[in-house]
Amino acid sequence: MSVRVVARLRPLLDKELDKDIIVRPDSSHDDKPSNIVRIPNPKNESEEFSFAFNGVYKMATTQEELFTKEVAPHLKSLFQGLDVTIFAYGVTGTGKTHTMRGGMKLSERGVIPRLLSGVYRRGRKVTKDSGGETTVSITLSYYEIYNDKVYDLFEPPEKRTLAGLPLREKDGKTIVVGLSEHACDDLKDFERLYIEANHNRSTAGTKLNAQSSRSHAILMVKVNQTNENGTLTSTASAIDLAGSEDNRRTENGKERMVESASINKSLFVLSQCIDAIGRGDKRIPYRESKMTRILSLGQNNGITIMILNLAPLRSYHLDTLSSLNVSSRAKRI
Ligand code: ADP
Ligand code: MG
Repeated sequence: MSVRVVARLRPLLDKELDKDIIVRPDSSHDDKPSNIVRIPNPKNESEEFSFAFNGVYKMATTQEELFTKEVAPHLKSLFQGLDVTIFAYGVTGTGKTHTMRGGMKLSERGVIPRLLSGVYRRGRKVTKDSGGETTVSITLSYYEIYNDKVYDLFEPPEKRTLAGLPLREKDGKTIVVGLSEHACDDLKDFERLYIEANHNRSTAGTKLNAQSSRSHAILMVKVNQTNENGTLTSTASAIDLAGSEDNRRTENGKERMVESASINKSLFVLSQCIDAIGRGDKRIPYRESKMTRILSLGQNNGITIMILNLAPLRSYHLDTLSSLNVSSRAKRI
């Protein structure tokens, strides 16, 4: 299992009042791309902390550049049978949804629609190169984990039960019992399904009085390649994680406390898994949260990319520092 952790800084927004940029990519090696992010110590601003990553994307980075550098190179491995998992991690408002879903304009499309384009393109190539003997079919599942419970985003919210969908072990893998899978033959199909499910996500959020920033949204793209020898299946997962901020600092309602504890727990387990995989440990604590269990994080021979989204502004100072501390490759140096 290989794991990469990269940071992406978002630009300032027009509507934003705070213009005070305090997080900077290292600029001391102008000849080489820099993999370091610097941030002042909030207790003593004459001092700086530095964190190292496998890659750092500056404020001006386009959606296309991020996809081309971080995701496109793994499409080949996906079609060779490896699972590919891409996480967006970070404080609410730092660009996770922008990175994963993106905007409507072509140039603003995020990792997910570009991933699907890439998968269809490569699927056609595989079929062509095999002289038509290998056929490729794609199915989608999309669910959210809220309060450590799993909800199918293709189900209308009124069909949700509070308990959510149960997990079960099958052939050494964890499956979500009753999770729907949708045939998705082309980009048009994908767009229709994705819009419908995202709509369910936001209406369910209103019903449960939950904001989408408090749940993890997990899209699974299953690639099935069939020929006379059988079917090779691999999965690309794209995950827009719940905000990593500590809600206890700003909220004190009991409900929010429960949410905060379970969000923080799964984010914590995730970071521990990424850490353990990065160190090459044999024991990965993936069983300790539903999200990491479903993804069997570290249990298969796949590729994991974690994108830490950062808003470089002073108003995010403490939350940014804690997200830097948690995202494992971002060791203080
Ligand atoms: P999150 O999902 O982490 O809460 P969003 O993706 O909703 O954050 O981003 C917050 C705001 O910042 C949105 O208005 C989004 O369009 C904008 N934004 C985030 N990243 C970028 C970027 N790289 N370029 C332009 N706008 C961005
Ligand atoms: Mg979001």
